[in-house]
Amino acid sequence: MQRRQILKALGLSAFASSLSGASSQASSTAASGWQNWSKSLPASKAPVESPQTTADLIRLIQTTQGAVRPVGSGHSWTPLVPADGDGKIVRLDAFNGVRSVDKSTQTAWLGAGARLKDLSPALAEQGLAFRNLGDIDVQSLAGATSTATHGTGQNLPCLAAEIKGLKLITAAGEEMEFSASSNADLLPAAQVALGTLGVLTEIQMQLVPRHKLHRRVQFLPYAQVLEEAPSLWQKHRNFEFFYIPFSGTAMVITHDETEAPASPRASDESDDGVMQLKALRDYLGWFPFLRKRLLGAAIANAPEENIIGESWQLLASARNVHFNEMEYHLPPDVALDVLQEVRHWIERERADVFFPFECRMTAGDSAWLSPFNAGPRISVAVHTHAPDAYDFLFSKIEPIFQRAGGRPHWGKLNSLTGAQARALYPKFDDFARLRQQLDPEHRFLNPYLRELFGVSA
Ligand SMILES: Cc1cc2nc3c(=O)[nH]c(=O)nc-3n(C[C@H](O)[C@H](O)[C@H](O)COP(=O)(O)OP(=O)(O)OC[C@H]3O[C@@H](n4cnc5c(N)ncnc54)[C@H](O)[C@@H]3O)c2cc1C
Repeated sequence: MQRRQILKALGLSAFASSLSGASSQASSTAASGWQNWSKSLPASKAPVESPQTTADLIRLIQTTQGAVRPVGSGHSWTPLVPADGDGKIVRLDAFNGVRSVDKSTQTAWLGAGARLKDLSPALAEQGLAFRNLGDIDVQSLAGATSTATHGTGQNLPCLAAEIKGLKLITAAGEEMEFSASSNADLLPAAQVALGTLGVLTEIQMQLVPRHKLHRRVQFLPYAQVLEEAPSLWQKHRNFEFFYIPFSGTAMVITHDETEAPASPRASDESDDGVMQLKALRDYLGWFPFLRKRLLGAAIANAPEENIIGESWQLLASARNVHFNEMEYHLPPDVALDVLQEVRHWIERERADVFFPFECRMTAGDSAWLSPFNAGPRISVAVHTHAPDAYDFLFSKIEPIFQRAGGRPHWGKLNSLTGAQARALYPKFDDFARLRQQLDPEHRFLNPYLRELFGVSA
């Protein structure tokens, strides 16, 4: 159902006309310079260069005076990409496509700058697929793996954990491979490296046979979802939920493998749903009882999904309404209590929040800087509409996550210092030593990364 129809059904026709204005404001473009997707970072003055060949890339690294910072699709909120001084941002769009496939091991060498959304159909032609994907698939392969991008599933690791080999160009302009046959012991260091060991050109991924999934989206009482969450993670290949603030209701999404024939999917209206929540926030934020009643009515009318399709076509969705996000990966035994604490604080103090909170689970891995290093984690994410203030995420929400032993998503809002990272990651110092060895002049560091690795300007 279209958002205007839902609002009209609720007797809120007056609000429907306000929605298109809100959408266009959220997607306005920056005046100049590179900026991240949500435009939370100031426009960068550094030029963006797009080498076409490995020789071009080596020349660029050798001749740039300041920092060289690789960029993928710019979907991170943390200031990982901006290059200061005489630095350059380097875009690897020309390093794309499926380079080679080994069907016997279900692995493929892929261009590091390729977008996940372009790789999935190309891999499907080879009878292969990524084991899992996050909420979107517009990221580059290198960008997604470098920050440990994840989806959800008790037995499904983050994308970086699927890396079997990679090739990068070091600060000295040399090609280096990390794989079972070269520098094997250092592969777990290079899997999640924030673009600080070198510029990735190719990545070998472990894949799985192409498969279909049965996707189910339901709205259930939040208390019931909290109670059943551990068993739902066990029961379903992929299980996640979004708590809709001020509603007492959660949207539950499950995916399970199936051989049944594919069914058509209605057009993706997830953004419409978010904008309905915004309209209720805008007009009824200070009338919590009425807001909850109308939310209940809107949710009762919301379409539930029950469809079958190719894994890569169902796992990721479009996100056209821009937002800012903080996500921490928490020890599983405390994560749901943390979510409750966050919910209570926001519903008590922040009537302006309307984006649902997301809760997912990811299997453990051995990458040195993976937040899932040494065991599974449950992730809790809080979002705010891009035009809205989000300082409370740092002052009020992040301390709750940190007290519980959470590790932040490397690409999402956080204020983690080098000292805190060292305490959270047993191999942090080993990684810092390797980084120093490969990049002794700190050519791949910007101010944010210098602070993280304790390097003075
Ligand atoms: C709308 C939205 C939805 C999202 N959903 C999810 C989700 O479901 N799950 C999740 O975990 N995250 C999610 N994210 C976060 C996102 O996946 C990560 O921030 C990811 O790093 C973005 O990939 P990118 O290609 O845009 O990389 P960028 O943000 O451009 O770069 C990220 C890092 O990768 C490095 N890098 C990029 N290319 C190279 C290269 N060739 N060589 C070496 N280093 C490189 C950069 O230097 C930087 O350190 C989401 C973000 C947005 C905006």
